[in-house]
Amino acid sequence: MKNSTRNGIEAYVPLVGEPVVALIRKLAARLQGVRMLNINSTKKGGGVVEILGRLVPLARGLGIDMRWETIQGTRPFFATTKKMHNALQGNRVDFSEKELRYYEQVNRDNLDRIDMDVDYVIVHDPQPCPLVQYIPEGVPKIWRCHIDLSRPDRKLWHYLREWVKQYDASVFHISAFAQQLPHKQFLIPPSIDPHSVKNRPVPRKTVRTTLMRYGIDPQRPVILQVSRYDRFKDPIGVIEAFLMVRKHYNCQLVLAGEQAADDPEGAQVYEEVRAMADKHPDVHALMLSRENNHHKVNCLQRAATIIMQKSVKEGFGLTVTEGMWKARPVIAGAVGGITAQITEGLNGYLVNSVDGAAYRCRYLLTREKRMKEMGRAAKKTVLERFLITRHLRDYLAMLLAMKYPKHTAIEM
Ligand code: UDP
Repeated sequence: MKNSTRNGIEAYVPLVGEPVVALIRKLAARLQGVRMLNINSTKKGGGVVEILGRLVPLARGLGIDMRWETIQGTRPFFATTKKMHNALQGNRVDFSEKELRYYEQVNRDNLDRIDMDVDYVIVHDPQPCPLVQYIPEGVPKIWRCHIDLSRPDRKLWHYLREWVKQYDASVFHISAFAQQLPHKQFLIPPSIDPHSVKNRPVPRKTVRTTLMRYGIDPQRPVILQVSRYDRFKDPIGVIEAFLMVRKHYNCQLVLAGEQAADDPEGAQVYEEVRAMADKHPDVHALMLSRENNHHKVNCLQRAATIIMQKSVKEGFGLTVTEGMWKARPVIAGAVGGITAQITEGLNGYLVNSVDGAAYRCRYLLTREKRMKEMGRAAKKTVLERFLITRHLRDYLAMLLAMKYPKHTAIEM
């Protein structure tokens, strides 16, 4: 975080060019001192944290008073919101009246902790969604959804929609997630920051040392999946695919994840993965500690020969973007936001099954040139479409569109 804050927006000029940065400066000039509050449910773990951790300091550096608050919850609250997450991504889950009332009550209990005397509020995901009713009159309220809402459980969506409807706008990653809502819907895909500890260049020697620290052989190819231990990320499917590949090719699998503070299911999924990984010496299931986590993920992604993200549901999949930025070929589930990033066969492969993942892995492992070409194309895709500068520009344009709803064009 410190890195880009110190450097500010100028640090991006060599990558994206002066015109892109000039436009961001112009948009920001119209929003000087504007107090814009983001609210989510954790500062530890997951894609939302990754994004806000970068966007907030960069916007502040541009003179926008962007803030970030989190709601606090209890274990039962997060158990319910994780169930909501699962239901919104298509699982059939039932909620009792008691659970829903408690979910609303925890939101109410957070009121005293959050200063809502601001000019805009952006609420992220379902956890703090009911806070909408407490946002002062006249303050534009935006619901930012980071999850795969392509086929939500209808019953839960029916309930949640009553809250979402009260916002002035919603933001989704891709059009497939847009819903029937009585307000504006913006499509803004997420992004990565090339200057972050997670994404900046790392010396080869450091990458090698990191591998060895985890007992991974730096001489043999590494297939990597970085993810929270979550069933939607299908870590078991990744192991099954790897075991098929391993019969023919001497390589290793690394699964790396951390425990997100608002994901109580993670520990159980990790146990199941560990039990399976322990049966094969070339399967490494790592639970990364928070300390230096981003640096470790960066090193592992750079050490990977192939990056896998075999999700069966995915809001966006920043791990895909991160892998592509490191010019690695990515094999990923053909779901959600991943399909907005990977163009089949050009900058990665999209798969629908364990067999498909194994097949693509075997194909690539024996074609070094193809992997290199694919990696180069992947990096270009991220440079053009998924860097933080594009994300910031879209956010600022959205805020201006909300501020001047009657204007079709804003004079710069
Ligand atoms: N991540 C991390 N350490 C881990 C596991 C994941 O820093 O041990 C990061 C990962 O690099 C990515 C984010 O968490 O930046 C996950 O975002 P993604 O959109 O892939 O999935 P989400 O967790 O939001 O479903």
